[in-house]
Amino acid sequence: MEKLMNYVDGVYCPPINEQYFDNINPATGEVYCLIPDSDDNDLALAVTAAEKAFPIWSNMPAEERSKILVRFSEGIEKRMEQFVAAESKDNGKPITLARHVDIPRAVSNFHFFASAIIHFSSESHYMEGVGINYTTRKPIGIVACISPWNLPLYLFSWKIAPALAAGNCVIAKPSEITPYTATMLGEIATEAGLPPGVLNILNGTGAKIGDAMVRHPKISAISFTGGTATGEHIARTAAPMFKKLSLELGGKNPTIIFDDCDFDDALKTTIRSSFANQGQICLCGSRIFVQKGIYEKFKEAFVAKVSSSKVSFPEDPKANLGAIVSESHLTKILTYIDLAKKEGGKVLTGGNRVFLPAPHDKGFYLEPTIFESLPYDCKTNQEEIFGPVVTIMPFETEEEVLMMANSTKYGLASSVWTTNVKKAHRMADQLNMGIVWVNAWLIRDLRTPFGGMKASGVGREGGLEALRFFTEPKNIFIKVD
Ligand code: NAD
Repeated sequence: MEKLMNYVDGVYCPPINEQYFDNINPATGEVYCLIPDSDDNDLALAVTAAEKAFPIWSNMPAEERSKILVRFSEGIEKRMEQFVAAESKDNGKPITLARHVDIPRAVSNFHFFASAIIHFSSESHYMEGVGINYTTRKPIGIVACISPWNLPLYLFSWKIAPALAAGNCVIAKPSEITPYTATMLGEIATEAGLPPGVLNILNGTGAKIGDAMVRHPKISAISFTGGTATGEHIARTAAPMFKKLSLELGGKNPTIIFDDCDFDDALKTTIRSSFANQGQICLCGSRIFVQKGIYEKFKEAFVAKVSSSKVSFPEDPKANLGAIVSESHLTKILTYIDLAKKEGGKVLTGGNRVFLPAPHDKGFYLEPTIFESLPYDCKTNQEEIFGPVVTIMPFETEEEVLMMANSTKYGLASSVWTTNVKKAHRMADQLNMGIVWVNAWLIRDLRTPFGGMKASGVGREGGLEALRFFTEPKNIFIKVD
């Protein structure tokens, strides 16, 4: 059985304790490789390597770092199909999604930050007759990047690319549920000419190696994407050490569809925003509010389309939905489906586990599920399910839908459908979310601030926000007279 390795000081190495745990293919339910169960000793090696590399990397001109990151991007692009197959197998997502979204986006992330760092500038503030302030932004030192399983390489690269571009040495941990493509990056790093120790990739559980990273005194900043409860734990651990924190957490995003929308576009996009990646994207809309005038028409068309979606194994080019990432996550989603029924929800379609023929008969498949008749403030409508389960609710006025949309503890993203530009502005202004799409979903410009309000996170990623997070500003004042 293949054993994954860690990547430390420029070489692949096994965990010091020689302990591993299973990596399960969600499409078949079978173990297909073993994952290092790394601990503090592996982290100590990574920290030593990163400390040694920091002066070399942080003093390297930005243009040189940029060239290496371009080679990173090209290295992934050259092995596109290898990465696509690995991502789809590790996560259970349709291969078409990995090919069109996940891996191309990882390529873009490296390319974008390779370019961004050579356009990055700091500020200067002139005080007439008094003096001049100028601000420098230097790399922080050793930073930790911890990522989730839903968009494995996409989100891993979204963190490590700006961290590296800004001149930091990185210790990164992919999710233990989907570590494969992140581990493949070691080879790309070596080929791109990244000096040893600049990027270290440690595999293992959140409770062991993740927690060790958060506690390590020589790691000065943590960029984390994952669940809100984990984010809270990390914040509690890191705060007394005054570490810089970027937390991208959960969501319970509303999709708001007005009577005056472009019906066909709203319908087509809402199917994607509800069920892409089996609903396991932090930006998926799981609460669909439809204005009364088109409620019945929308509901009927939505249910008809969704119930004919194909749930299939990831390699099936016709699969609309692939496998849920793990058995425990499937169980969690099924528990929420039971809860929704207990809360009085009516299943319009779906609700059941799907059993495909062998060799996928033990895979973790679930029908896309739509609930109706649930109040906006019940648990099903307030808690993050993170699966292919949505609720649909009618509304009458802007005020009413705003109140319902803003009622959860989360504030990540939203999607508003209307052809009235004034209404679009009014809604966008009053939605307490970090991201509002009008007549669209998941259109991403990598320069824009990315992240959420309230329990959806602290700080923003993307563009200059990411480069600012991964640098330490220093203001210097010089008297002129
Ligand atoms: P998770 O919180 O269980 O795990 C995320 C990462 O944190 C993993 O690498 C895990 O090993 C690590 N981890 C777990 N406990 C840790 C600890 N005590 N210390 C340090 N690291 C620890 O989340 P998940 O189940 O992998 O991902 C799903 C969640 O991520 C959902 O809530 C989803 O909304 C959220 N998410 C948010 C965004 C965003 O940009 N806001 C993007 C994607 C996913």
